[in-house]
Parts: sequence; structure tokens; C-alpha cells
Amino acid sequence: MVNNTSKIVRKEILSNKYILFKLDVGKEFKYIPGQYLIFIFENNLRRSYSIASCKDGILDICIKIDEGLGAQLSLKLNEGDTINFIGPVGTFNLHEDSKSKIFIATGVGITPIRSMIEYIQDKESNFKLFWGVRNKDDFIFDFSYLGNKYIQVVSGKDETFERKGHVNEYLLDNLEDKNVSFYICGNSFIVTDIKRYIIENMDFVTPEYIYTEKF
Ligand SMILES: Cc1cc2nc3c(=O)[nH]c(=O)nc-3n(C[C@H](O)[C@H](O)[C@H](O)COP(=O)(O)OP(=O)(O)OC[C@H]3O[C@@H](n4cnc5c(N)ncnc54)[C@H](O)[C@@H]3O)c2cc1C
Repeated sequence: MVNNTSKIVRKEILSNKYILFKLDVGKEFKYIPGQYLIFIFENNLRRSYSIASCKDGILDICIKIDEGLGAQLSLKLNEGDTINFIGPVGTFNLHEDSKSKIFIATGVGITPIRSMIEYIQDKESNFKLFWGVRNKDDFIFDFSYLGNKYIQVVSGKDETFERKGHVNEYLLDNLEDKNVSFYICGNSFIVTDIKRYIIENMDFVTPEYIYTEKF
């Protein structure tokens, strides 16, 4: 594991709920799409954050803001500050096989999947993204360029949206292919639930082709 230090070149607050940091990691920075960094905050508090993009030496980290310690310490960081981190680390990576890739993200679990999609979009056409969020303004990244490969689902009670509920409910009707592998990321309980749903309802999928990252 490598210890690194990088400068924050940009800090944005998205939808009042997320911090987007852009870190200058330099053009030599190497990572595998899907990997994460372990931020080392004051008093050696450590928190993992997936790489949400890395282009031309600039790396995106997106952190959900709530009362948590890491989130509150991240809010205090500003452009020009440096971040100490370990990484990149992690084994939630793309697998080379002949299967269509089905990406399923819930909430801020989109972060590693954003890197994966950025990586494969020019190389492969056989993939689809399902992104489930609570409210419409949680769609903080724009994937509209994916056209009908992108399925958005909103679960919040007060929201009006074409697809409401949970991503599970939209999977079967939107799979054109049965030769698929799944990449699922989000809150731990939800990831477990989606995986269970797939195993119970799609007998054409073997569990070894379901890759998960639990936040
Ligand atoms: C591999 C991996 C990658 C990850 N990538 C990301 C990512 O890209 N983006 C991201 O946002 N997260 C990511 N996470 C989750 C992240 O590491 C943290 O676990 C998460 O952000 C919560 O950390 P925290 O220190 O802010 O909250 P903690 O202090 O650890 O608290 C945990 C939760 O308890 C609740 N809580 C804590 N204190 C209070 C309080 N005083 N009042 C009310 N509620 C409270 C909050 O809901 C909080 O989220 C990732 C996790 C893993 C394992």
C-alpha cells in the first residue's frame, strides 16, 4: 500500500448533500477503475472513498454529507489543502469476460461505477447502468449520454418520476441478454438485498458473476 499526499484543486457542494473534491494526483497516477483511497484525517481517523473519476492527473472523490466524522472533517477541507491517503486499493474491478456488464448503483455507490463506465464506454457497448436514489437531486452525475443504457430509479415517497421504487423492480424487464455479470455498489444492506434478489429471481446468473462493493 502506498502513502500519498495530494492537493485539493477544487471543492464543490452538489445538491447540498455531497462534496466533490478534485485532487491533483499527477499524470503518472495509476489506478484500476473501481478502486478506492483511504483518507487519513486528523487523529489518524481513516475513511475509504472510491475514485469517482481520474483523468489527466485529476482525481474525483465524492462524499455524502451527513453527521458522520469523516463527512464533517471533509466539509472543513478547502481548495489548496492537502489530503493524506493510502492507495489506490481494492478489488472491485472490471472482469474481462464475454458477458454484458450490468452496473447497479444505489446512492453514492455510483462512485466506483462512474470510473468503470468512464473506462469501458469507448471499448465496449455491452453494458447497462441502473442507478437508484432517494430523491431526483441525488442524481449528481450526468449519464444521459448513455441513452437507453441508463435506467434511473427514484425511491422517495414525495417524488414524481417515471421509474419509482427500487432498482430490483426494473432489472428483469430491462435485461436484453441473459449472459450477464453484475457490478453492484452502495449501502451494505441494499447491496446484499439486490444480490439476494438476483440469485432468487434469475436462475441464469451464477453468484460468481455478481461482484459487489459494500459501503
Ligand atoms: C470501499 C469503500 C468505498 C467507499 N466509498 C465512498 C464514497 O465514494 N463516498 C462516500 O460518501 N462514502 C464512501 N464509503 C463510505 C465511507 O468510507 C464512510 O463509511 C462513510 O462516509 C461514513 O463515514 P463517516 O466518518 O462520515 O461517518 P461515521 O462517523 O463513521 O458514522 C457512520 C454513520 O453514522 C451516522 N452518524 C454518525 N455520527 C452521527 C451523529 N452525531 N448524528 C447522527 N448520525 C450520525 C451517520 O449516518 C454516518 O454516516 C466507502 C466505503 C467503503 C468501504
